[in-house]
Amino acid sequence: MTHDSCNNFWLSTLAEHLAPRPRLEGRAKADVAIVGAGFTGLWTAYYLKTLAPSLDIAVLEAERVGHGASGRNGGWVIGNLAGLERHLGTLPLEARRACCRLLADNVNALGDVLAREGIAADFNKGGAVYAAARYRDQIAIQRTHLRHLHALGHDEDACQWLDADQLAEKVRFREAYGGIFHRHVATVNPARLAHGLAGALERLGVAIHEHSRAIAIDRHTVTTEHGVIEAPMIACATEGYAQRFHDFRKHVIPVQSMVIATEPLPATVWQEIGMADRPAFADASRIITYGHRSADGRLVFGARGTYRLGARPKHDQAITAAEIRMRHALLSDFFPILKEVRITHGWGGSLGLSRHFRPHAIVDRQAGIATAGGYAGEGVAGSHLFGRTLADLILERETEFTAKPWAYADASHRRLIKRWEPEPLRWLAAQAITGSYAAEEALMKRETLVPFIKPALTRINDAFASVIE
Ligand SMILES: Cc1cc2nc3c(=O)[nH]c(=O)nc-3n(C[C@H](O)[C@H](O)[C@H](O)COP(=O)(O)OP(=O)(O)OC[C@H]3O[C@@H](n4cnc5c(N)ncnc54)[C@H](O)[C@@H]3O)c2cc1C
Repeated sequence: MTHDSCNNFWLSTLAEHLAPRPRLEGRAKADVAIVGAGFTGLWTAYYLKTLAPSLDIAVLEAERVGHGASGRNGGWVIGNLAGLERHLGTLPLEARRACCRLLADNVNALGDVLAREGIAADFNKGGAVYAAARYRDQIAIQRTHLRHLHALGHDEDACQWLDADQLAEKVRFREAYGGIFHRHVATVNPARLAHGLAGALERLGVAIHEHSRAIAIDRHTVTTEHGVIEAPMIACATEGYAQRFHDFRKHVIPVQSMVIATEPLPATVWQEIGMADRPAFADASRIITYGHRSADGRLVFGARGTYRLGARPKHDQAITAAEIRMRHALLSDFFPILKEVRITHGWGGSLGLSRHFRPHAIVDRQAGIATAGGYAGEGVAGSHLFGRTLADLILERETEFTAKPWAYADASHRRLIKRWEPEPLRWLAAQAITGSYAAEEALMKRETLVPFIKPALTRINDAFASVIE
């Protein structure tokens, strides 16, 4: 096993030299100022500008477009939302179904924009084996989970059970007993998406300023080191990269996630592991493990998020050789044929987790502030939907998007502003939960162990999951 470098594969597919965009200098005015040029900021700008072409919109980015999670993620475009149950729990079935349909349609809607704007981001809708049961104990857990998805409002056709043979037609794991297939999942090259979308925005007349970190957001004014912009509405789209300057920072904290990519794999390897339609895949582990086949025939694989004491976002991309080796070992456990392949890329980044464990799109018109985020690692499609929703909320349009339970207008958002517990409590809780998840999985793997410990751990972990998922 060799590792050529620790770098971000998606960024390596961009043109070698992307000219930096001008930073904000001096005093300026806009109708809407957006802080953060990740997917949330860019999609918000896109829908604002297409719905109201005369609006003057400026996007301010601390680093480069796509510097945050949007340029670093695993590329899944998921027709779902993390924390959906919290949003839908009390709604009648028909309303829940409508939300799930919207989430499914959102994947196609995102693909349609890419086609319309000529953004070549390798969008491929191959569905996802969402939760492959690699241990016998996971079969019952995942079947229960599938019933839960249907009860929540997902179509039976959208989410269905694959037995071991059907699963092997999609992805051939070393050993798997079946799993949930989610039809409404696509994959994308996220860096190309971010940069392609930024280019489309500039063609539409949106100003994007890179190297323009907001150091203060006060009433209708964003201050950067070199400039000031006044706008009646400011959208804060900094998710897991939020700085301390804003209230929203208190309820969205960064969690680290890491990804590796193999060298392009030969046809013989793909014959063995399948994935002809390039579906995404994840196993049934509670400690997220996921991957997909990239357009150029690599396996892109992410696993095992971590939480850093003090909730510091991960600005650097690098991950250590040991972190790469750990993920390569996991990948080889899924597909033993990949044990000797070269891992050419490895990188990491921060995603945003809200204290309420659900994503939100909020506009406080009185304060002139909007925000969206807290996608908990499912923000590629989520940011498209929430950018659209924020645009409608900002423009005071009443649409199917603003009527959804994750859209909050005006002061009603304040009930979401709940602080995370102080350190070291957060860090200790994160260690306890991930440790308990890992212990349960280790027991599932060794099927012979004392039977009563496993169900007890599963009950404890179900309780953890009911709090944080
Ligand atoms: C490794 C990894 C894998 C993931 N995999 C998936 C996946 O497969 N599918 C999925 O759906 N989701 C995934 N996610 C989550 C998804 O990438 C995010 O939810 C989504 O990209 C969030 O977009 P965003 O625009 O809200 O935030 P970001 O992309 O993080 O953008 C925030 C931007 O704000 C900028 N910023 C911060 N502070 C300031 C400031 N003061 N002034 C100006 N700019 C500022 C940052 O530089 C950054 O560019 C993953 C995340 C990570 C880290």
